[in-house]
Amino acid sequence: MEIGVIGAGVTGLATALELSKIGHRVTIIERDETPMPNTCEEAFFWDRSGAPQVRHSHALLGRLHNLLRDNHPEVLSMLLDVGATEICLTDHMPDTLDDHNLVEDDKNLRMLAARRTTFEWVLRNVVMENPDVEIQTGKGVSGLRLEQSSIPKVTGVCFEDGSGQGFDSVIAANGRRSTAPNWLTEAGVSLPDEEVEDTGIIYYSRFYKLPEGVELPVGDRLVAGDLGYLKYGVFWGDNNTFSITFATSDTDKTFWGIRDPETFEKVVRLIPAAEEWLNLEAEALTEVHSMAGLLNRKRTLRHNDEMIVDGFHMIGDALICTNPLYGRGCSTGFWQAHLLGQSIDANIGDSVAQGEQFSLQVEKNILPWYNASVESDKSSRSIANSDSDEISVMKRSILKEGLIPATQTSTEVWRAFMKMMNLLADPSILSEPEISATIMRVWAERDRRKPEPSLGPPREEMIKLLGLVSNG
Ligand SMILES: Cc1cc2nc3c(=O)[nH]c(=O)nc-3n(C[C@H](O)[C@H](O)[C@H](O)COP(=O)(O)OP(=O)(O)OC[C@H]3O[C@@H](n4cnc5c(N)ncnc54)[C@H](O)[C@@H]3O)c2cc1C
Repeated sequence: MEIGVIGAGVTGLATALELSKIGHRVTIIERDETPMPNTCEEAFFWDRSGAPQVRHSHALLGRLHNLLRDNHPEVLSMLLDVGATEICLTDHMPDTLDDHNLVEDDKNLRMLAARRTTFEWVLRNVVMENPDVEIQTGKGVSGLRLEQSSIPKVTGVCFEDGSGQGFDSVIAANGRRSTAPNWLTEAGVSLPDEEVEDTGIIYYSRFYKLPEGVELPVGDRLVAGDLGYLKYGVFWGDNNTFSITFATSDTDKTFWGIRDPETFEKVVRLIPAAEEWLNLEAEALTEVHSMAGLLNRKRTLRHNDEMIVDGFHMIGDALICTNPLYGRGCSTGFWQAHLLGQSIDANIGDSVAQGEQFSLQVEKNILPWYNASVESDKSSRSIANSDSDEISVMKRSILKEGLIPATQTSTEVWRAFMKMMNLLADPSILSEPEISATIMRVWAERDRRKPEPSLGPPREEMIKLLGLVSNG
């Protein structure tokens, strides 16, 4: 088939990779004028205004690592060759766990440390080696060509310059700001209502590089925490780079000043686990980038068990996007590309069946993660707004004073938590009888434990130390 893929972000490239490997000809259309740089260092300064999140920290989870290892080893090996690192999570097991013996399945507990631009640059390099893939950059799609049939059939795309191109199938991988639903509506196809939940956060990120010869101070814990009013994380990158991200409420203006590099670094220095990273003569590579308007959103092209359009798929953030705090988007985007490749391959010659299978696979594999994000955001919001009911307060307490400390003492809970965080086991793994019994036992002992050292100052103290004015 001749397939048009709209968008050369992670999902568009992954889709092209999957489909070209099973014998389809793929044309990728990308609006950003992004000629291919020679190195990943140059790619870091790519103009990616169509995907501004590339300027933010990206965790690349175990699900993504394993899809690459098992299906696209050439991508994994190029990533490692250009300076990315495999994070073997069992190398960072807390010393305090009750059993340090490894099990066979632990080989799957691997993440990748790389800047998002490095990952995209490697993917694009590998994809473009296939002569069946063509990329057109600096070209935007403005609509779809459709033909009326029992189910409306997409036959190509219209470009912003007024021209167009025909395809057997079109895939919209054009990100969270995708206008694909409008293209369908304009052509007379109405989508079922989408579900949208605001995450209520603003993101602030800054990238750094350590001098040659200085190693990233990676310990036995990933550096991430929640001060209640401010969440933070330190992300290892490739080639001795790392980034620090803060997330605050988008309605509490008090901390909006974090965008100022001096204020940003003052905050870092007030959080002991993060400060350590700046103390190694880290050189800032960027300004502080911020991003708001972050949503959880799900769409579908299926209504009453039937596809509403033929020869057209939406994928990646264009179909389902979740709160970036959970670091799942690139992994679920890549996973969706894999599921779409399988759906197309299993139904050659029947494009409606391809869409149906893909939709069902997304419901089965990806939607549980969307639901988990929405659920978790609701609980965080109600705690922050102090309008939570008793059950939410109890759930929060079990999470903070049961689950989190149990990941430091019980290997079984640590392993289940790592699998869940890396999309390798469904969120329900934490409710399995033995795991939940351990979590509840640790929770029941909460008053007998020494309090955990503080992660950073409480809100009022932070405001004072930064010289800010409360504006919540
Ligand atoms: C602040 C932030 C932090 C994040 N952190 C993480 C993380 O830690 N880990 C993680 O896995 N995910 C993270 N994500 C999510 C992740 O970035 C997305 O899930 C991922 O980029 C989705 O990839 P995509 O290819 O679907 O869309 P995008 O990467 O957004 O790519 C869409 C592409 O389509 C192009 N395009 C758009 N419209 C058109 C058009 N009409 N014609 C042609 N081209 C078009 C755009 O230019 C863009 O290149 C984060 C997101 C945000 C916002």
